[in-house]
Amino acid sequence: MTLAAEIVPVTPFQQNCCIFYDTEDKSAVVVDPGGDVERIEEAVKRLGVAVEAIWITHGHIDHAGGAMDLKEALGVPIVGPHRADAMLLDRLEDQARMFGLTGAVRNCVPDRWLEEGEILSFGTHRFEVIHAPGHAPGHVVFFNRDAQFLHAGDVLFSGSIGRTDLPGGDHAQLLDTIRRKILPLGDEIGFICGHGPGSRLGVERRTNPFLR
Ligand SMILES: [Zn+2]
Ligand SMILES: [Zn+2]
Repeated sequence: MTLAAEIVPVTPFQQNCCIFYDTEDKSAVVVDPGGDVERIEEAVKRLGVAVEAIWITHGHIDHAGGAMDLKEALGVPIVGPHRADAMLLDRLEDQARMFGLTGAVRNCVPDRWLEEGEILSFGTHRFEVIHAPGHAPGHVVFFNRDAQFLHAGDVLFSGSIGRTDLPGGDHAQLLDTIRRKILPLGDEIGFICGHGPGSRLGVERRTNPFLR
């Protein structure tokens, strides 16, 4: 069984909505459908996959703003983030107004909150849930140990880290999360993130200017 990831950039923030799927049995999940739901649905159709759930890394509009519409379109549950982001998810429509966005953003009510150490799976693929606060208090990331692969959300980027000037952000906590919970996963771990290209943890440990 082979794990694949299809990226669909969504919203004016060019957020990497990610469709994880199995190339053989076509099971799939959609991570962070922030908006542009019709484009996500097109990608699901083109890939010919059967989406089992929507996974959310954290409660910002560019990651969760389209989740309720996609849930209704696909008839699947919304899983995550950690309940510490409930306050953000309750106010997605306010966030949209703050950023001057109009349109389809809706407040989000997950079907299930996630805790540190839980295992999420689809097909034969297992992802460990890591609670990774700092960018947002309820941020979670998804680690596939077999594939040596991490979905880092907005915690860590290629050459950068998540912003911490939004409600609930905490720069010191974010650095602590990255140093204590993310980098120890191993230098060889490849990751994708919410914005821009992915990278490897070892490359970021050595070269990311925010981790010096
Ligand atoms: Zn964010
Ligand atoms: Zn983002």
